[in-house]
Amino acid sequence: MITRRRLMVLAASMMMLPGIRSEDTPNLIVILTDDQGYHDVGFNGCEDIPTPHIDSIARNGVRFTSGYVSYPVCGPSRAGLLTGRYQDRFGFTTNPTIDPSVAEAGIPLEEKNIAEHLSKAGYRSMIVGKWHMGSHRQNHPLNRGFDEFYGFLSGGHNYFPENYVLEDLSEVRKKWDWYRTRLIRNWERVDETEYLTDALSREAVEFIDRQAGEVSPFFLYLAYNAPHTPLQASEKYLKRFSHIEDKSRRTYAAMVSSVDDGVRDVLAALDRNGMTDNTIVFFLSDNGGAANNSSNNSPLRGFKASMWEGGLRVPFAMQWKGVVPAGTDYDEPVISLDILPTIARAAGVGETPGKPFDGVDLVPFLKGERKGSPHETLKWRVFESGDFAIRSGDLKLLRERDVDGALFDLSKDVSEVTPDASGNESQKALLRKEWELWENELQPQAFPSLSDVWWNDEKR
Ligand code: CA
Repeated sequence: MITRRRLMVLAASMMMLPGIRSEDTPNLIVILTDDQGYHDVGFNGCEDIPTPHIDSIARNGVRFTSGYVSYPVCGPSRAGLLTGRYQDRFGFTTNPTIDPSVAEAGIPLEEKNIAEHLSKAGYRSMIVGKWHMGSHRQNHPLNRGFDEFYGFLSGGHNYFPENYVLEDLSEVRKKWDWYRTRLIRNWERVDETEYLTDALSREAVEFIDRQAGEVSPFFLYLAYNAPHTPLQASEKYLKRFSHIEDKSRRTYAAMVSSVDDGVRDVLAALDRNGMTDNTIVFFLSDNGGAANNSSNNSPLRGFKASMWEGGLRVPFAMQWKGVVPAGTDYDEPVISLDILPTIARAAGVGETPGKPFDGVDLVPFLKGERKGSPHETLKWRVFESGDFAIRSGDLKLLRERDVDGALFDLSKDVSEVTPDASGNESQKALLRKEWELWENELQPQAFPSLSDVWWNDEKR
């Protein structure tokens, strides 16, 4: 059957319109884990949790040693990744409420996400896993550029299907109940039977297999919620780690291992469909390892939710065989905001007028065509607390709780142990000024937060 989309792509390619697929327009897969520690992949030195398949992405492409996200918790980080723009530019300053009646909780309609950009170029897109970009109908993935959805709308979920006892978010009556909803396929609730990570991997593989023979390129956003709490793993994975005595770390290891199996299956699906050379694969975590899931951010200081490197710097790798040289270590700072501009150039899609990307196309840097750093500065803001950070070159200035205005030279002190290493007050003032200029461009919080109570019967 010739679909409307295929007709559009065929017609456009015959007219050689820019941005429409030629033979080599790449597919894109973004594999996002949740609260995984910087150290908890083999390519960053992890020893107690083998991740050979995640590692193969770095081995076949590039390992980013200074790969950042734009916020140290789930929701705002994902909003940045998906739009290629600092999320505070549109008030996405906090984890959004998942109250399904709040339409403004999510990425504003005037901001385009990666699936919306790519759909204009004829891509077919699927999100598998965690959405967390609003629960109101207007923000449903199928209303935001995606063609297919399998997963859940909330910011976390239980892993065992026997716990999926709520029909949907309207039945939430107490905190964390949103982890117990039935899963969704497109608009419908479904009965899932597999351990959640395995189910998400299965759906990702089936989507890739369905693309065989399609004219249009595809975008797969595989947003695992592992290894976010609750720490829950199936026996299949736990028994791989009987040598780890600490029960939490053992369970965390099992959860990471289940993701690694999923990455194995996704990469194998690309191979058997002859798509490996024409598919960009990114792997990263949405923020640093959390203090409550037995993750390891070594040698970085701090955890999820902090301005320390352990909150912001994540395991980050990419492969694009035949384009990006295999086995590259890239040490200049990059950020999740770069993912959309990187595929946008290759897909021929542009920025929305008045909404320029903050990220950049990484490919010229990775191929050695452009020298220097992709970013003069990277910046972060925590709207509620006033905490902030800015990185320029190797220097990082931050405020984190009671540590205010501390300057570190990350080339000498990646663990941020000794503040004011350079002792340069004028440098601090310059960085502070630069951050303030950026902050003037940002918006205040645009919607209620996840922590605002909405789920009691009385209020509803
Ligand atoms: Ca997270």
